[in-house]
Amino acid sequence: MPRLLRSEGSPYTEVVLREHAELGVCLTIESAASWFGNASTGELVRGAQSPGFDWVKVCSQCIYDHRVGGITFGSNGVCSYCRQVDELSAVYGTGSAAGEGKLEERLQQIRSDGRGRPFDCIIGVSGGTDSSYLIRMATRQWGLRPLAVHYDNTWNTATASQNIAEVLSTYQVPLYTYVVSHLQADRIFRAFFLIGVPELDASTDLGYAYTLRKVASQYRVRHILEGHSFTTEGVSPLTNNYFDGKYIQSVVNEAAQNNLIGSEPKVARANEYPLMTLARFLGHAAFRKAKFTRPLWFMDYTKEAAKEVLARESGWRDYGGHHLENRMTAFFHSLYMPKKFGVDFRNNSLSAACRQGIVSREEAWARYCKEPYIEDGLRSYFQMRLGISNKLFEDTMKADGRSWNEFDTYKRDFERLAPIFRFLAKRDRVTMSFYLKYCQK
Ligand SMILES: [Zn+2]
Repeated sequence: MPRLLRSEGSPYTEVVLREHAELGVCLTIESAASWFGNASTGELVRGAQSPGFDWVKVCSQCIYDHRVGGITFGSNGVCSYCRQVDELSAVYGTGSAAGEGKLEERLQQIRSDGRGRPFDCIIGVSGGTDSSYLIRMATRQWGLRPLAVHYDNTWNTATASQNIAEVLSTYQVPLYTYVVSHLQADRIFRAFFLIGVPELDASTDLGYAYTLRKVASQYRVRHILEGHSFTTEGVSPLTNNYFDGKYIQSVVNEAAQNNLIGSEPKVARANEYPLMTLARFLGHAAFRKAKFTRPLWFMDYTKEAAKEVLARESGWRDYGGHHLENRMTAFFHSLYMPKKFGVDFRNNSLSAACRQGIVSREEAWARYCKEPYIEDGLRSYFQMRLGISNKLFEDTMKADGRSWNEFDTYKRDFERLAPIFRFLAKRDRVTMSFYLKYCQK
């Protein structure tokens, strides 16, 4: 007999934990309407990506299910991403005395390399929890002199800009902002949207990554600190989140050839967009030698504790949502990926919260099954900025999605140069996660 365990307190959907003889532990939605589709018959239909599923296999430790790209399950029902998080925790000593020791060693190096230079390190800021907390720790706890760097894709919300200002003035950190040409940024966004690939926001991620390197080089700063935390965000699969300079260029070229964005195909012309080519990427890693550190990887870190400290010490405010500091990011997370690709990235942070014991799996699953929060006017703002009519919007959202591997990218070059990137990753001049994600076949 299957073991049934009913969850409480979710008016929207009722979650039933069911032990399945062949599939290990399964969660299925029974009764009540679900935004995934008609759940009243016990079917779980989640967008066009996974038609025909009447069950969904969920990890016994987090809420990643069998539809997450590249996932595998062990005999105990624990998914490969949970195992990856455990492995990373072991290597970095996350939250243990060993981890603290490793981090302190790194911080001493950063302080010593900073002597005689205007700054000890660069910290990229977005106004979000992780990067704001890093600014706080760097100044109050670690005695560092950071330079904050912000890549402005011109889609920021007022709250984000205000948060950046509040945090930097509280902890007295100077700010370098790179504001991209809004015309160029919007042209690239329009190309990605109309071509129909998942990585709508890739130009921001890549522009940000290149800006950090350029500013480090300009101010002769030897270290770049990143606010990423695998314990609160997990490790995301490559399938829907690929980006490199050649990919951006080829999506824009195809859009230009099809008259979707005007006829001028080059994205890097007149320095309107900081396009990170392979030569620039390698040049920075090999010759400029800035080192990357992710301090949160070593620490016992929860977003909840970080938010509390930031709100108490500075005028920083919580967005009350995931990645809502920027309208493009908000559109990407709450509308574009769920509606067009059937992918909802909230399972990253919810799964991480399960692993940390902050929420139960039933509660996380119930939250995941609720439609994401969409702020008023988000869709119309997106359409207005990019000049997209209602009909074009609806047709594009309905059209089949395409994949990064249909386009020219540096993936083959990354694989070919894997030994070099391995060498650079071991010396922290590219991140280990870049090496693991992009350089392996
Ligand atoms: Zn898992």
